[in-house]
Amino acid sequence: MPLLQDLVAAIADGRIEVLDLTAPLSDKTPIIQLPPPFANTRRFELTEISHYDERGPAWYWNDIATGEHVGTHFDAPIHWATGRDGKDVSQVPARQLIARAAVIDKSRECAENPDFLLEVADVEAWENEHGPLPKGGWLLYRTGWDARASDQQRFLNANETGPHTPGIAVECARWLANEAPVIGVGVETVGTDAGTAHSFDPAFPCHAFLLGAGKYGLTQLANLARLPAQGAVVIAGPLPIVHGSGSPARVLALVER
Ligand code: MN
Repeated sequence: MPLLQDLVAAIADGRIEVLDLTAPLSDKTPIIQLPPPFANTRRFELTEISHYDERGPAWYWNDIATGEHVGTHFDAPIHWATGRDGKDVSQVPARQLIARAAVIDKSRECAENPDFLLEVADVEAWENEHGPLPKGGWLLYRTGWDARASDQQRFLNANETGPHTPGIAVECARWLANEAPVIGVGVETVGTDAGTAHSFDPAFPCHAFLLGAGKYGLTQLANLARLPAQGAVVIAGPLPIVHGSGSPARVLALVER
């Protein structure tokens, strides 16, 4: 059977499950909160144009307003100063938007320590158990943080010292950017970096190293708990915003059952 027909048949009969890794997008979707003097993103908002009324008797439609980095979204290289000469979100090749995924689960560690940082040794231990990271694929980092995504306060987990959410250690970010074969990193948190990463050297190392290396980020993913450690295929669909630094994205995973 031709490959594509076999694929849709497998999806139809459940041999391949389609999982939605996307958080619902609404004015309740948590957004990152930068401290002064930095500017912040706006929320996602709908403004009604007509709703089967005198403004449009047979139709309902809205305008949308959103930041590029709201909800489940894609970080393009030009999002960071280190990647300023790289691709904007409209320039990411379509074939890179379908890729294999490795899933590393540190949800137990993150439940005990919200400032948990993934180290190179964690990824190497994972590779010893599950095989090498997929070339041109994603490293998806499960932290359990998706369980908090309906509540901005719990999601950002900030106190007087700033936000406390799990992330990736400086050396591991450098290694993922420069040594590992992955195309990018996907996380369940509001950004690819740890809540405390403003104090790292360099600050926000995932952004600085990965985007600087022309790699990508995916944030605020859901349902990573339902993915195998190896073997899933991720389809990430950011909008092709010309000059865009990122975009809300529908992210799906295909999993063989
Ligand atoms: Mn972002």
